[in-house]
Amino acid sequence: MRLHWFLNRCKREPRSSKAMNEIDGVGVPDRWQRLWAPHRMAYLSGENRPLKGNDVDCPFCEIPKGDDETSLIIYRGELAYVVLNLYPYNPGHLLICTFRHVADLTEITSQERKEIFDLSTDAMKVLRKVSKPAGFNLGMNQGAISGAGVAEHIHQHVIPRWSGDANFMPLIGQTKVLPKLLSETRSELASAWRELPKSN
Ligand SMILES: [Zn+2]
Repeated sequence: MRLHWFLNRCKREPRSSKAMNEIDGVGVPDRWQRLWAPHRMAYLSGENRPLKGNDVDCPFCEIPKGDDETSLIIYRGELAYVVLNLYPYNPGHLLICTFRHVADLTEITSQERKEIFDLSTDAMKVLRKVSKPAGFNLGMNQGAISGAGVAEHIHQHVIPRWSGDANFMPLIGQTKVLPKLLSETRSELASAWRELPKSN
């Protein structure tokens, strides 16, 4: 129904980009430039994920072995690190992962739990400073049935949200609008993170 409505709208007179954004639900542009990037299709087809019959090591154990720039790491804590999701739902979609290979929230130590939530808090501060999202989704999928892509290694999602970001784009193109290159986003967030005042 919504697709029909959109296609009909496209036949009408073009409007200014501001008016189109407001009316069509693309959302008011944030400061990151957007482009078409179907990153998530590779993810959905299972590439680089330790799925059954797929001879791939745990990516969240592998990521910290590389340097920050190529691994898209924003920040390394003592027990956990922050990395850009390679298959983001939105620009600046971050993952907080323990260094330890452990699956379940009930299996991690209280220090690891604390650090995951401290880093989630800092991630919100950094994203607010850099890209002014209107809100966030935070959470963990526990077990493959819940939608966890890498169920055997715990990770917390921090997803910035803007007005209209979940509307018609994914429905139309089966892709998602994304920002400038991930590497540029990484360096922008990493430098904003370095400027964060130390919290207790
Ligand atoms: Zn792991």
